[in-house]
Amino acid sequence: MTSRSPAPRVPPALRQRATEVLARLQDLYPDARTELAFRNPFELLVATVLSAQATDKSVNAATPALFAAYPDAFALAAARVEDVEGFIRTIGLYRNKARNLVALAGLLVERHGGDVPNDFDAVVALPGAGRKTANVVLSNAFGFPAIAVDTHVGRLARRLGFTAETNPDKVEVQLQRLFPREQWVFLHHALILHGRRVCLARRPVCSACALAAVCPQVGVEVST
Ligand code: SF4
Repeated sequence: MTSRSPAPRVPPALRQRATEVLARLQDLYPDARTELAFRNPFELLVATVLSAQATDKSVNAATPALFAAYPDAFALAAARVEDVEGFIRTIGLYRNKARNLVALAGLLVERHGGDVPNDFDAVVALPGAGRKTANVVLSNAFGFPAIAVDTHVGRLARRLGFTAETNPDKVEVQLQRLFPREQWVFLHHALILHGRRVCLARRPVCSACALAAVCPQVGVEVST
């Protein structure tokens, strides 16, 4: 019989630094939340699928007309893919996304009575969704504790010395070990905001960063 080895203990100094980073992020972004516009779990799911490799701004510009035309999973499931494309043409990968959205809506109707399931595995199984989408949807729509790891969260977690992993699933596990469960959703949003505004991908603004005193700046070669 094999036994799973226990997760390695988090060094106290690292945990303390994580606590300090969290406190500073809470000061910086007390109202951190998703910047995607949505009114219900269905809209959030659609917006999150659309946001892959696209800006929230471009998604928010397209979704009001899309949701007016297809207000629920039943309407979207019955749509022609070409018609959906017309609403999201300004968003990257729109052909793929239109196809996925119609298929996804079909599955919501077929398996879940048209509702977004409050179940991680069921959301992950939807076309165009993945772990990140499931985490975003379940945390924002249903209060499920989750840290969705996108490009910003992964980059900041590495620069802040919280992980050396590049695989988002592994980054997620390491962040979960470092931060209290009730802060996971906040942390996800705050790291995204900090990544967009200060800890930029190409040239982070370390000189004006409120986390600088507690950040080892791992892998940062050029900063402002
Ligand atoms: S100090 Fe630099 S690397 Fe660290 S979080 Fe701030 S901007 Fe990012």
